[in-house]
Amino acid sequence: MVCATGCCAVERASQAGSIQGVLRRLHRRIARYRRQAARTMENQVIPRKALVVGAGFAGSVVARELAEAGQHVRVIDKRTHVAGNAFDETDPQGVLIHNYGPHIFHTNSERVWNYLSRFTEWRPYEHRVLGVVDGKLYPFPINRDTLNRLYGLDLDEAGAAAYFERVREPREPVLNSEDVVLNSVGRDLYEKFFLNYTRKQWGLEPSQLKAGVAARIPVRANADDRYFTDKFQAMPINGYTKMFEAILDHPNIHVEVGIDFAHVRSQEVFDHLVYTGPIDAYFGYCHGRLPYRSLRFEHEHLPGVAQFQPVGTVNYPNDHAFTRITEFKHLTGQQCAGSSIVREYPQAEGDPYYPIPSDGNEALFKRYQALAEAEPNVTFVGRLAEYRYYNMDQVVAAALAVAGRLVESHR
Ligand SMILES: Cc1cc2nc3c(=O)[nH]c(=O)nc-3n(C[C@H](O)[C@H](O)[C@H](O)COP(=O)(O)OP(=O)(O)OC[C@H]3O[C@@H](n4cnc5c(N)ncnc54)[C@H](O)[C@@H]3O)c2cc1C
Repeated sequence: MVCATGCCAVERASQAGSIQGVLRRLHRRIARYRRQAARTMENQVIPRKALVVGAGFAGSVVARELAEAGQHVRVIDKRTHVAGNAFDETDPQGVLIHNYGPHIFHTNSERVWNYLSRFTEWRPYEHRVLGVVDGKLYPFPINRDTLNRLYGLDLDEAGAAAYFERVREPREPVLNSEDVVLNSVGRDLYEKFFLNYTRKQWGLEPSQLKAGVAARIPVRANADDRYFTDKFQAMPINGYTKMFEAILDHPNIHVEVGIDFAHVRSQEVFDHLVYTGPIDAYFGYCHGRLPYRSLRFEHEHLPGVAQFQPVGTVNYPNDHAFTRITEFKHLTGQQCAGSSIVREYPQAEGDPYYPIPSDGNEALFKRYQALAEAEPNVTFVGRLAEYRYYNMDQVVAAALAVAGRLVESHR
């Protein structure tokens, strides 16, 4: 470039006269080019390399955000697929099922809704649950119709509110999940719908569980029988896995499944690590294991059964070793001859699903969190890394926040 410019200038010099003047102009021009080149080098963003462990919501959303900011991102997951616990696929009979239990998307966050809507269209779906008590089905969460059908009453909304007021066992302070339920619906409803379900689900008495667990389930005096009341309630129209494939489909993202972080940890070279696996595993369980409740999923296809149960999920608080049965066609709207269901059997051993909320476990997590905060160039995000029960929308929000901070700090 300089040479070419110089040649032109010399040619013009012979016509224009003073060769010295031309050389001065030439030097000025070369200096200008040098300054421009230096400025370009300064402004250039040298792409950084990030390793993301885990291709669930936390890992995939952070990966996408970093990739869009120009970083090169390698995503690994030890499972043989993306989408984490939200993974879905068609079973051998062609029914779309959720391998790790039913996942129903709901959120009040416009930001999360708009973000995911970049990667999928939606099928409107409002989840409904019934609970079996003494062989009969009742709306759950408990509402006015639950009371009317269970006790042969004819209460309106005000009547139902008065009923709850009459039967509740006031607790002050409300310390645990037993307190929460007795305080709002009294002993009979507690024993019919909550006590045994909690024992099965957690392997603990409700009095041993933090108040927040039961507080997640509302009690309604009206007849609203939807499980969730969020502004946005829908299912990805082609399933979660397809949505994840779209999130991860970016030229700066390279995904590899079937790879455990433990096997690449010492070899991998990266500027930043985003870790969404279990935080205690990352630190070699040096303070002991964080306890989780696990589940065994028993999937079954029912040939020729158009509909197995009237709603998406039926809870079995008092019967059987499983807690609930979900029929996927309700969730996905799929039309096909047979139907596929899943039974969930809670258990102590197995994949980590639910962090067990107790003061002792939180104290243990805090010790790991202190180690995490001292770890340079590593970000811990997601339900396993933060030892927190996150709904899908909450983990997307957390991942977007983390990614925003990372992109900002690397500018
Ligand atoms: C039974 C069940 C039902 C649920 N239903 C709902 C629902 O209806 N609605 C809702 O909003 N939420 C639901 N959730 C919660 C939802 O599953 C979570 O919000 C979501 O999965 C959290 O995403 P994540 O990325 O943090 O974790 P995950 O989805 O678990 O992703 C973490 C990934 O990291 C990988 N990983 C871990 N360790 C390593 C390692 N060493 N090396 C490589 N990879 C590793 C794992 O294989 C996993 O794929 C449900 C959860 C369960 C258990």
